[in-house]
Amino acid sequence: MPAPSIEVIANLAKRRGFVFPSSEIYGGMAGFWDYGPLGVELKSNVKAAWWRAMVQRRDDIVGIDAAIVMHPRVWEASGHVAGFSDPMVDCRNCKLRFRAEDLKGPLDQIACPNCGQRGTFTEARQFNLMFQTHVGPMTETASVAYLRPETAQGIFVNFANVLTTTRRKLPFGIAQMGKAFRNEITPGNFIFRDREFEAMEMEYFVPPPDEDRWFAYWVEERLRWWTEEIGIGADRIRLRPHEPDELSHYSRQTTDIEYQFPIGWSELEGVADRTDFDLSAHAAASGRDLSFFDEATGGHLVPFVIEPAAGVDRAVLTVLIDAYEEEKLERDTRVVLHLKPHLAPIKAAVLVTDGGDLRRHGQHRQALPAAGRDRHSVLRHGRRRDAR
Ligand SMILES: [Zn+2]
Repeated sequence: MPAPSIEVIANLAKRRGFVFPSSEIYGGMAGFWDYGPLGVELKSNVKAAWWRAMVQRRDDIVGIDAAIVMHPRVWEASGHVAGFSDPMVDCRNCKLRFRAEDLKGPLDQIACPNCGQRGTFTEARQFNLMFQTHVGPMTETASVAYLRPETAQGIFVNFANVLTTTRRKLPFGIAQMGKAFRNEITPGNFIFRDREFEAMEMEYFVPPPDEDRWFAYWVEERLRWWTEEIGIGADRIRLRPHEPDELSHYSRQTTDIEYQFPIGWSELEGVADRTDFDLSAHAAASGRDLSFFDEATGGHLVPFVIEPAAGVDRAVLTVLIDAYEEEKLERDTRVVLHLKPHLAPIKAAVLVTDGGDLRRHGQHRQALPAAGRDRHSVLRHGRRRDAR
């Protein structure tokens, strides 16, 4: 069956109470979404599966839960204040963002390098993706703060705390899940790209010589998680190493785990080799020692970092798309979501089909046998509910 369109999934999500447009009675707000009764369960099950695989079932990874608002100097040291503010251009068609300097030629004439459409570029804008806020009662420069655009920095600034309190040896990881915010110019495609989203990130600290080995390990391990534990079809997921010119400012090598979304192959998770960029930058900016004391050699070293990072909302979208099937019945069609039991919002249902129920649901009367209480009638009644 061809993959359902994003619109079909968004409509299903709204109809069944998975995801609603945020503040819908006021017209909604682009890039913000509310999870309904079924959605909050599905989302929480996806997060639980990640936490089990990345923290609870491993003895080399611990978790933290850092604050969303961090010291503004964190984002200067990390490069987000400077690096997030290049002149940027967005493609209105495929929603990808490009640095203006990477696009050669007049913006209203050249073709999008990703989707090939012409005339779809926004104007170049100096734009920082971080949401600003003010801490304290005075709206003045000194109190400017940012909502975190990723959870990773909360891990780096706690590296020494975790090291001291857990007495870890390399390699070891620190994992975090939580809300993050990016003021995207062109949010879109339902919950594919949100302005408020939830991230699942793990920073794995390794001795620098072991960088390549652990990078390869985490690419394979995360791919395995998506297919085996989340149940994503192996024919709709693939690995794509980044070209040197598309690497982030902190990364030496990155491989995306991509899913074949209805809008094309796109990132589902990124595994990035962040080297010692973040720890070294924070050590320099804060004046704190963020190195690791290696008892074997008696020397200090700054570990390299391998980071698998995924978005919870995009994971939920992927699960919905991948699980979706329109099943033909004798007379009509019903939508079935083939979810793994540990992800399903509802594990089992008991549906009452006695006479009182039938009188209230007159349209079902003919579909049920007169007795109305045997097992088959329950099953058939359940189908009817699904088919609506
Ligand atoms: Zn495009």
